[in-house]
Amino acid sequence: MNHNLFATFAQRMQERGDADFITTREGRGYTYTAAESASARLAGALTALGVTPGDRVAVQVDKSPEAILLYLACLRIGGVYLPLNTGYTGDEIRYFLGDAEPALFVCRPANAEEARTIATECGCPEVETLGTAADGSLMEAAEKATPRDDIVARGEDDLASILYTSGTTGRSKGAMLTHRNLGSNAATLAEAWRFTADDRLIHALPIFHTHGLFVACNVTLMAGASMLFLPKFDTDVILEELPRGSVLMGVPTFYTRLLQDARLNREVTANMRLFVSGSAPLTAETHREFEQKTGHAILERYGMTETNMNLSNPYDGERRAGTVGMPLPGVEYRITDLETHDPVPQGEIGMLEIRGPNVFIGYWRMPEKTREELLDDGFFVTGDLAMVDERGYVHIVGRDKDLVISGGYNVYPKEVEQVIDQLDGVMESAVIGLPHPDFGEGVTAVVVPEREARLDEAKVLDFLQGKLAKYKQPKRVFFVDSLPRNTMGKVQKNQLRQQYQDTYR
Ligand code: ATP
Ligand code: MG
Repeated sequence: MNHNLFATFAQRMQERGDADFITTREGRGYTYTAAESASARLAGALTALGVTPGDRVAVQVDKSPEAILLYLACLRIGGVYLPLNTGYTGDEIRYFLGDAEPALFVCRPANAEEARTIATECGCPEVETLGTAADGSLMEAAEKATPRDDIVARGEDDLASILYTSGTTGRSKGAMLTHRNLGSNAATLAEAWRFTADDRLIHALPIFHTHGLFVACNVTLMAGASMLFLPKFDTDVILEELPRGSVLMGVPTFYTRLLQDARLNREVTANMRLFVSGSAPLTAETHREFEQKTGHAILERYGMTETNMNLSNPYDGERRAGTVGMPLPGVEYRITDLETHDPVPQGEIGMLEIRGPNVFIGYWRMPEKTREELLDDGFFVTGDLAMVDERGYVHIVGRDKDLVISGGYNVYPKEVEQVIDQLDGVMESAVIGLPHPDFGEGVTAVVVPEREARLDEAKVLDFLQGKLAKYKQPKRVFFVDSLPRNTMGKVQKNQLRQQYQDTYR
């Protein structure tokens, strides 16, 4: 049996025929039949360029339907798809090409010259371009190439992709993902979230992270559904498209932005079946407000580059605000002591560990890191701290690396942030630990006030008296206009720690 994930997709392509697979607002796009033949032409081009099974294909291009066809073509010929953040600069690209040693680098037409220089330095033999209007040298090569309509045989454990982590806690690591990892998760999610061929997904996420690429596109393909491909999140466009969509997958900032718009209501979301949130914590307040305004309870799920999706609130049954739900079918989790890896009692905070067919096989060229995080019994140490409540819903408490240890006491930033956020005039906050001569780390709050709020440090500190134990209370409070976030809405606490590093020194 061929375990190539593309074989499953090819079946859908045949079944769905002239049904839409992917469209843009401008009316460009591909039916399932057209996607099949376009992927065969691109597969022919990749082969002509010398890409063979197991070769990496590095891709840094703007979002377009053709970028997804390139991903499919790459799977089809047994290549390893390696998407790169469009925000990476030349120096960063140099690191990734040097690390991954791809056989081909596909870049934006405007970057061709610089890309060629870097590729030469890194020993990458081929550079092609792909634009957002079905243009670029790769598309020209595809026109000329002999289409390949075969599907290269792959085993379950053969690599389908190397996806670099977001780099929130340090340098990005290349997660090696197999055909089984991606295939099992896509099938599980399509079923858990009740995807059918009738669904129309509004796709406004970037396609170089697991969320926008694998969760969104693989699930759509698994179900034979269709997607509206938007270049980015734009509140006006989303509100216009909601009546024609059935599912939106978003990061929490999508939902906070929609909530700021008076046009968000029950009518405009009446055709929608499901709103999914992930990649960063969705606050319970956003969850409740969204439900009040639209009648839809956002379904929050939890996952990561290394494991695909692990935990999800239920489709049927209560979607509990502030939680990420229960394990998906086939996925196991445990919450453990940070040192011993022994499970902690229910209700206590510990390290979240995950096991299942969705879990990656290791970090690309980082055997030591792999050994540290992928345990002998198959559990992956996520680096996230969690707690399970009495009803079996998992709460993500924060990242292990964000835990503050002050005077020997553990302080969980999220707990402090949640109390600060209750103060009138506070929009949001981030709590960090900074080097402190007496306490080791000093708890520190960075607060974003609401417009026209009159807040100062003393007001915030007074508010916390009696609400939090003394050792959890911040020693200093700083005010900023906004928190530093990446495109997935993740707060970059590293940047804050750096900015305020000398506070107690
Ligand atoms: P790096 O591993 O390079 O530091 P990263 O962990 O941010 O970066 P990703 O794999 O893109 O890279 O993100 C996974 C992380 O996102 C999870 O480990 C978790 O911290 C966070 N996350 C994802 N979904 C949720 C969620 N629903 N609630 C809270 N956090 C989430
Ligand atoms: Mg991570």
